[in-house]
Amino acid sequence: MVKKDPLKIGSYEIFWLDGGVFHLDGGGVFGVVPKVLWEKKYPPFTGNNVLMEASPILLKGEDKNILIDTGLGNKLTEKQKKIYGILQPWDIHQSLEQIGLNAEKIDYVILTHCDYDHVGGLVQYDKNGELEPTFPNAKIFLQRKEWEDVKNPNKRAAHSFWEINFKGVEESGNLELIDGNSELLKGVFVEYTGGHNRGHQIVKIISGNEVAFHLGDILPSHAHFNPLWVAAYDSYPLDVIELKEKYLSEIVEKQCWVLFYHDPHIMACKFNEKGDTLFSKERERRN
Ligand SMILES: [Zn+2]
Repeated sequence: MVKKDPLKIGSYEIFWLDGGVFHLDGGGVFGVVPKVLWEKKYPPFTGNNVLMEASPILLKGEDKNILIDTGLGNKLTEKQKKIYGILQPWDIHQSLEQIGLNAEKIDYVILTHCDYDHVGGLVQYDKNGELEPTFPNAKIFLQRKEWEDVKNPNKRAAHSFWEINFKGVEESGNLELIDGNSELLKGVFVEYTGGHNRGHQIVKIISGNEVAFHLGDILPSHAHFNPLWVAAYDSYPLDVIELKEKYLSEIVEKQCWVLFYHDPHIMACKFNEKGDTLFSKERERRN
């Protein structure tokens, strides 16, 4: 269910779409943090597993529709659905319809990085089981470094970059590779971070008197506020710690919004200096 009342950041409206719900081992999501600590902030779903959203963030404004990441997609095999414990399927077309849009109307897709849970919806199976670009008119923005790693992954990254998720993407001519930081549209910035992946980037929105950050997998949930609580999935954990210290001090000091993709409880919030969530916009629980 898409919340129809968007979060407003100046002239932008922000919606969260249904990109799938899955679960992962809490040990992966919280790394070296013992379960007795993380389970208080992020109660497990079953056993040691925790719920994860893969909820694309839609920005509407300046006559453009911008999607941040694309959800799990419709290409998972039965075996993969079991492995990732899919609880809710990717339902992005219906989500778009609910807010009066469709996939053709997406102008930009920003990819924070290229792991399967963020790019699964970039290419889809059509009715006849053929692969096609999901957002045929969208320019796709990602860091050049990330794309280089997709083409030539290290041994670890190879498990989360799946060839099927990029079929035809280069040939479409819609790929826009970015080196470092860039303003894509008035007040919508991408900033290169690395950390989680070598080519990871984040999104910053400045409009009116508000600032919002989407830190991607640098801050997967509100429970990851402590800079030392980094995921075992991070390729460069010391960099993630430094990035969190830098961004979270700005976020607390300037009372910026933080937008989440994976958090199953909260779509957006502000933080005080202790990491308590303020003004949080909660997800509607689905059964
Ligand atoms: Zn992720």
